[in-house]
Amino acid sequence: MSSAPSVNATGQNNVAAPASEEAARQSVTLRVSEIFLSIQGESSLVGWPTVFVRLSGCPLRCRWCDTAYAFTGGERQNLERVLTQVRTFGVRHVCVTGGEPLAQPAALPLLRALAEEGYVVSLETSGAFSVAEVDQRVHVVMDLKAPGSGEVHRNLWENLAHLKPSDDVKIVIADRHDYDWAAAMVRRVELDRRCTVIFSPVAGELAPTTLAEWIVADRLPVRFQLQLHKVLWGEARGR
Ligand code: SF4
Repeated sequence: MSSAPSVNATGQNNVAAPASEEAARQSVTLRVSEIFLSIQGESSLVGWPTVFVRLSGCPLRCRWCDTAYAFTGGERQNLERVLTQVRTFGVRHVCVTGGEPLAQPAALPLLRALAEEGYVVSLETSGAFSVAEVDQRVHVVMDLKAPGSGEVHRNLWENLAHLKPSDDVKIVIADRHDYDWAAAMVRRVELDRRCTVIFSPVAGELAPTTLAEWIVADRLPVRFQLQLHKVLWGEARGR
């Protein structure tokens, strides 16, 4: 059976999902906290207008978490409904975030479906769940949890073997102890040779200039980054 060509929200030609796929998309469900349009504030994709699909739930409890509202609640939606909402925004970049998206098995078909529709797709994940099955077209932005997060024991080190050169590892740094831990780890596993490594300070705890000066003094091959959306809009939710 041939499928009728159509034009997706990014203006690219694509092929309408066959009926069987359509039915599958109706049966796959996700718990969704919010879907909104903003500027990507982090990662190598910083600055792009991006639709964020925030999935609910996370088994971690990072001490400095800024999305605790997504731990619980959310609305159960089928995959097709999520895709329909994403299309209405008409932008090229989509970020699946949380919470911890990979805590929901249906995050994998969501990522694959978004990539198939031609979006530039990124995934923000804690590093505590395997990324082995994530679609290869997806830009993985994976945290490694430093000791100051309280969740360093959750790092799934096997994930490093699955990272692509185009992916990012992000480490949020609370203090000098975190920095020394992260710098030693970057050097030990030559993390910068695997992918882009990003160091960000915990907002309100570590002065950005202090972290920047540590990186420069050590000539550490990592990228310093502030959360751009917080520079622009503070802690406002849905921005
Ligand atoms: S993994 Fe992310 S969402 Fe979960 S507690 Fe840590 S910062 Fe918050």
